[in-house]
Amino acid sequence: MNVLALASTAAQAAPGVVPCRTRESELWFSESQTDIDRAQQLCRTCPLQVSCLSGAVARKEPWGVWGGELFEKGEIVAAKKPKGRPRKDADERARAAQERLNERLSGVA
Ligand code: SF4
Repeated sequence: MNVLALASTAAQAAPGVVPCRTRESELWFSESQTDIDRAQQLCRTCPLQVSCLSGAVARKEPWGVWGGELFEKGEIVAAKKPKGRPRKDADERARAAQERLNERLSGVA
């Protein structure tokens, strides 16, 4: 986890407009898919979303929600891996997450 990087990124925006700075920061590093979904939803309102996501990709963040995407071991994943059998829609969710990432990163450069 790189909490310092998160704090540094969040510090670039005015206080009160960066959700991970004003809400429970545990949501962004939770093991609960419900919390992660909420963190991703909040990231989508953040003015730093694109720069946060591109920075997280560049740093290969080991885990947590960054720029609205979930990272595990430096890679963007669609969802926390549930224990047991894989979800039936795992491939579809991974494709959707990749498409969202491609769209966001195409706006960065
Ligand atoms: S995009 Fe999400 S993780 Fe990044 S600074 Fe904004 S609220 Fe925090």
